[in-house]
Amino acid sequence: MAILKGLAEDGGLYMPSEIPELEVSLEHLAGMSYQETAYEVMRLFLTDYTEEELKDCIDRAYDSKFDTADIAPLKEADKACYLELFHGSTIAFKDMALSILPYLMTTAAKKNQVENEIVILTATSGDTGKAAMAGFADVPGTRIIVFYPKGGVSRVQELQMVTQKGDNTAVVAIHGNFDDAQTGVKKIFGDSEFGKRLAAKGFQLSSANSINIGRLVPQVAYYVYAYGKMVQSKKIKCGDEINVAVPTGNFGNILAAYFAKQMGLPIKTLICASNDNKVLYDFFRTGIYDKKREFILTSSPSMDILISSNLERLIYLSAGCDAQENKKRMEQLGEAGAYTVTEDMRRRMADFWGGYATEEENQTEIRRLFEKTGYLIDTHTGVASAVYQKYVKESGDLTPVVIASTASPYKFSHSVMAAVSGKAEEGDEFASIDQMNQVSGVAIPRAVEEIRNAQIRHTRECDGNQMEDMVTEILGL
Ligand SMILES: *Cc1c(COP(=O)(O)O)cnc(C)c1O
Repeated sequence: MAILKGLAEDGGLYMPSEIPELEVSLEHLAGMSYQETAYEVMRLFLTDYTEEELKDCIDRAYDSKFDTADIAPLKEADKACYLELFHGSTIAFKDMALSILPYLMTTAAKKNQVENEIVILTATSGDTGKAAMAGFADVPGTRIIVFYPKGGVSRVQELQMVTQKGDNTAVVAIHGNFDDAQTGVKKIFGDSEFGKRLAAKGFQLSSANSINIGRLVPQVAYYVYAYGKMVQSKKIKCGDEINVAVPTGNFGNILAAYFAKQMGLPIKTLICASNDNKVLYDFFRTGIYDKKREFILTSSPSMDILISSNLERLIYLSAGCDAQENKKRMEQLGEAGAYTVTEDMRRRMADFWGGYATEEENQTEIRRLFEKTGYLIDTHTGVASAVYQKYVKESGDLTPVVIASTASPYKFSHSVMAAVSGKAEEGDEFASIDQMNQVSGVAIPRAVEEIRNAQIRHTRECDGNQMEDMVTEILGL
């Protein structure tokens, strides 16, 4: 039910009543395929699904949509392991969860005898929207509406969205930033009058954002899988600790790593990497979450976020699962724009190390790694890589690291090529793409070729406060 609903009725986020322990041994993990690992992890959370149902969802999600049988290959460069999470149909890590979410949702709808059409409302900082539409396009019994910040996403991201096919898809550009889009979506969810109008017409809302627990659970799987691969390739021995570094926006991806740690995976430090929107870095340093600051547009747009929704789940766990305390803080954030956590809670978050990279540090890191190893990373992975370097410098901790590589460099080719050449890119996006192909030797992904000549199908725009009207119009209420 939590997956179907997306957001709880009181506006809070769903949480598992407890985080289960891994049952498979670490020795065993090393030989397991991605699908087997995903099943081992997901079955512990999604206990309402039968073995057959869950395995069916997994097999349909992680298939030839991915361009490698490994699904999430691990690449070593300059002694760090980059976990490539971008081999799915939209070449960013959101595919890892969004290729399975539609199957989880439609299976849950069937089990719960839901007759309504499910309307997925999604705010995107660039990658979720396309990945969700790719997953839900033409899925019977579903509609999907995506809101993205106009001018706040890369050209490839925008083209991927506005050319999306499928009769049940709609895309709207918001005059505002990601937080405006996300707040607008949460508001629609909280409007019970609107919910009634929808229900009268046979619709019910759900979310494909990482506030949906069905996004988080599949993401735990790849950290467990990465550990197995590290053992298999003899980079570590069974039981050795690893660090993970994650380029962070909405705090979903790194929270999944934290869940993996809570399940018993030997993770030491969770390195939380921010760009210039460094609200999380400040939070981990001071214990104060303060969103009242300028929203900065960077070359890692999918991390341009000041309200990291999933932090709410960590706060909840750190306060001893006290839902009232949690609600108080989330209300403070809404009303005063800030909240503080106690010393005791900070101690419970000591597994996290917050860092950030400026635009220049990010560019320098992308160039350094490319010149040293020939390995090209995107601007989000660049942030994580740069912050990891800072972490090592500050701590001296050389524990083997897995860096989450969240997007193909082709998705941000303008910025990546500018970083590599050290000067601003001229010409259009596709010129940079062809140039990237020449210097990196990595084949241009199908997802990029597809949009080169695709027809633009979506041109809707609106202000942040008109989102509900837009939904009304699109659904014909
Ligand atoms: C969404 C996204 C992120 C941020 O992930 P969160 O789970 O929101 O913290 C980082 N990089 C890329 C490429 C993304 O699409």
